[in-house]
Amino acid sequence: MSSLATSVKPGRDAEIKIAPGPILLLGAPGVGKGTQSKELVKIWDIPQVSTGDLLRANVDQGTPLGKVAREIMARGELVPDSLVNDMVAVRLSAPDTVRGYILDGFPRTLGQACWLDARLSAQPEALSVVAVSIQVNYNQLLRRITGRRICPVSQTIYNIYVNPPRREGVCDLDGAALVQRADDTEEVFKERIRAYAALTAPVVEHYRTLGRFAEVDGDRPIAVIASGIVAAVEGLRKT
Ligand code: AMP
Repeated sequence: MSSLATSVKPGRDAEIKIAPGPILLLGAPGVGKGTQSKELVKIWDIPQVSTGDLLRANVDQGTPLGKVAREIMARGELVPDSLVNDMVAVRLSAPDTVRGYILDGFPRTLGQACWLDARLSAQPEALSVVAVSIQVNYNQLLRRITGRRICPVSQTIYNIYVNPPRREGVCDLDGAALVQRADDTEEVFKERIRAYAALTAPVVEHYRTLGRFAEVDGDRPIAVIASGIVAAVEGLRKT
């Protein structure tokens, strides 16, 4: 990632000339980090690295990591830093991350942030992380989380209150039965918010202090929020 002059997909957002580098999306559970990651993947043609998704894949496959993570995740607590960092290290060594990647759900603790910063500063050609926090108020979040339904086949995300499928409980794209994540209940949501406030707020302060932090309003249409994130990242990369 030595050059800032890397272009993006032809025909789309051609005005974005910079290599985005590592971008961290921050925000409480339900602010739309997953949705925005997918938008940014399309805009920049870089991968989304979601530790929640990677951990869920480990749980589904019954790997040793998945066996440890399953109970911790079901309680809404955080998986230990060392396990998550090792998993991320493997993912970031894949060649598709060279121009950058969207970090969704990682780093979530100061320890993870320091580990990532140290790793990147040991790679002279790597850009540093810039962090963008998506802001949404508590009641909105609760509706988003408890209303969220996911297609297990296409991974399309619905919300029974604001973005329901045409037929209740069924994916519009492929007809698969929609599922609710086990941790998308009100009780687990409260624990996840508590964990976010206690452990992830210091990550916000860390990047704010370093001058590599911006906030965007997450209570707007998806494409508008995505444009806001792009503008914020471009601004941070220029400074
Ligand atoms: P998410 O899909 O990002 O909401 O993550 C779901 C769950 O996976 C969290 O509630 C944690 O239990 C676990 N998890 C995801 N990312 C991390 C992380 N960076 N550190 C620790 N635990 C994580």
